[in-house]
Amino acid sequence: MIATFGRIVESVTIDLELFILNGKAQAHTEQGGYPLMYVSQSGELLCPDCVTRYWQEDEYHPEEGDPIVALYPHMEGEAVACDDCGEYTESAYDVPV
Ligand SMILES: [Zn+2]
Repeated sequence: MIATFGRIVESVTIDLELFILNGKAQAHTEQGGYPLMYVSQSGELLCPDCVTRYWQEDEYHPEEGDPIVALYPHMEGEAVACDDCGEYTESAYDVPV
């Protein structure tokens, strides 16, 4: 769906509400249970915890006009850092050998 960070596929727009379960942004894909990150319009990669926090504060993101526009299931490769809190999320399959 998304090949690189910081480059947003304009046509991809998600309804974030669909990925909020019991007030929390889902941390894993429904199918396969892969680690899930969220991408804002400006290209920031955010962890579910941060998205949850902003959701509870009734904002998609502290910077106005920077909504979550896409999901990023982290399938393989190095762990990725959340652009907000800096927490790392491991990929599902680690670095390919
Ligand atoms: Zn975060």
